[in-house]
Amino acid sequence: MSSKIKKIGVLTSGGDSPGMNAAIRSVVRTCAYMEVDCVAIYRGYQGMIEGHFEPMNARSVNNIINKGGTILKSARCDDFRSKEGRKKAYDQLRAAGIDAFVVIGGDGSFTGAITFNAEFNFPVMGIPGTIDNDIFGTNYTLGFDTALNTVVDAIDKIRDTASSHNRLFFVEVMGRDVGHIALNAGVGAGAEEILIPEENLGLERLLESLKRSKASGKSSSIVIVAEGDKTGKNVFELKEYVEKHIPIYDVRVSVLGHMQRGGTPTCFDRVLASRMGVKAVEALLKGKTNLMVGIQNNKITLTEISEAIKGHTKIDKELIRVSDIMTV
Ligand code: ADP
Repeated sequence: MSSKIKKIGVLTSGGDSPGMNAAIRSVVRTCAYMEVDCVAIYRGYQGMIEGHFEPMNARSVNNIINKGGTILKSARCDDFRSKEGRKKAYDQLRAAGIDAFVVIGGDGSFTGAITFNAEFNFPVMGIPGTIDNDIFGTNYTLGFDTALNTVVDAIDKIRDTASSHNRLFFVEVMGRDVGHIALNAGVGAGAEEILIPEENLGLERLLESLKRSKASGKSSSIVIVAEGDKTGKNVFELKEYVEKHIPIYDVRVSVLGHMQRGGTPTCFDRVLASRMGVKAVEALLKGKTNLMVGIQNNKITLTEISEAIKGHTKIDKELIRVSDIMTV
């Protein structure tokens, strides 16, 4: 390989997600396969600024493909938002002989990477690691599939107790700006209603739907609520609202919280991470930069990071229709 790049850094940054370890493993092993050096950068951009590096070889990443979280740790780093902070990071990378880096993270981490590239002409490549699945240029982000399975599993368990007591459960799932987790897990777990940030289905419609459920003889009901839903009420307020308007309902609330970010990655996320890591290293060695690896129509693709971070991916309207039909 005639590439000028001889040493590649890898870091995880921003919110963690299952599958990050599988992506680290893939980057490290692809470097070994291509016979270029690989260096771990710990604690995201914070570790970059502090020079918290460690050489990696193919054996450094044994037995991590099945682990949630990230062995490199992740961090938010305000210093990297300033030019002085980024200059410190650049000096540390140069001192360690690192020629390029792969950052596994979300849109904030990607913004940091291309800003860094613009200032120092330093090659950077992104792998989308976030459970929210909200990044342009990829049908799936790392961790989304695992998070969905975690949520569906939790809702299945909640339904067991809900149906034993004829209860209505409001289950809050992650998703401040996008409702991909709520909508997909809601359909997968057979939720009666799904409240997402993209659409205001309205409180009237919620009450109508719950009344219909009751009248049709359903013994339990599950309503999935994304954190950022547009009804203007949080899950606890929704519970009070429904209890006030339909007193026959015995309502409970369950907030799933950070469990959605953890756990063993699914096979889908492990395979995706492995494919993305290979592509990221290969692209850097071909002299490419400022790109994000994605998957589109089951093909591994490269998208300009500037495009990938432009906004949030749109909710699948057809899936909303499917959900409506399923809850007839
Ligand atoms: P995510 O990557 O999951 O979206 P954040 O938005 O917290 O998470 O970003 C992770 C890190 O990326 C931040 O702590 C910061 O170090 C860096 N970063 C985010 N936005 C910028 C920016 N506009 N300029 C420089 N660095 C940034």
